[in-house]
Amino acid sequence: MDSCQERLQQGLSALGLPLAEAQQEQLLDFIRLIAKWNKAYNLTAVREPLDMVNLHLLDSLAILPHVKPPSIADIGTGAGLPGIPLAICLPDCHFTLVDSNSKKTRFVQQAVLECRLKNVIVVHGRAESLQPKVLFSTVISRAFASMSDILRLTGHLLADDGLLLAMKGQVPEQELAQIESDYTVISLNVPGIDAERCLIRMEKQKHG
Ligand code: SAM
Repeated sequence: MDSCQERLQQGLSALGLPLAEAQQEQLLDFIRLIAKWNKAYNLTAVREPLDMVNLHLLDSLAILPHVKPPSIADIGTGAGLPGIPLAICLPDCHFTLVDSNSKKTRFVQQAVLECRLKNVIVVHGRAESLQPKVLFSTVISRAFASMSDILRLTGHLLADDGLLLAMKGQVPEQELAQIESDYTVISLNVPGIDAERCLIRMEKQKHG
């Protein structure tokens, strides 16, 4: 794990994210837990903790400057990505992590306990069936669905001035051609990842 810590520190400084030692420890605890549960639960195709530093932790944290506080939903969170790393780094924001797969939400609940997170609730359910009492200022997803499905399944979760953030690999030109909403494409530089990464950003009033 020493090399993970080193790689994390290098990545965080490349992202310009100075994090307290305790937060870095929480991030490393999280990937230790994924690696442990992955053996039985098959949570992610990434199996090596060192690779998880870049592909899971830093990839998730690359969007941190774009998140709008105070209430964030991560839809189709899977093993808690990007929700758990973001929640560790934004302790004043409230996170709701949603997945329809109970095996995944059981893991995420355990991660919340073991990473000592007080700002996260985990919901087992389908995005389209959620009826939150208070709507979210940001709805995030990574590798969840096509742009039109993201809008269809999660649009009702956004507050009036809310932000929809979809994390994608290459710019999904075909998916974007199929939607009518205004959007901005933000290209992301994730330390240690050669492949393209982008964030599609939409403001609620522009598609609501
Ligand atoms: N966001 C994670 C990541 O990037 O590693 C997981 C991505 S995984 C490809 C997509 C996840 O979306 C799966 O865990 C699946 O169970 C969940 N999912 C699919 N349809 C859903 C829905 N309608 N509501 C909530 N979760 C859903």
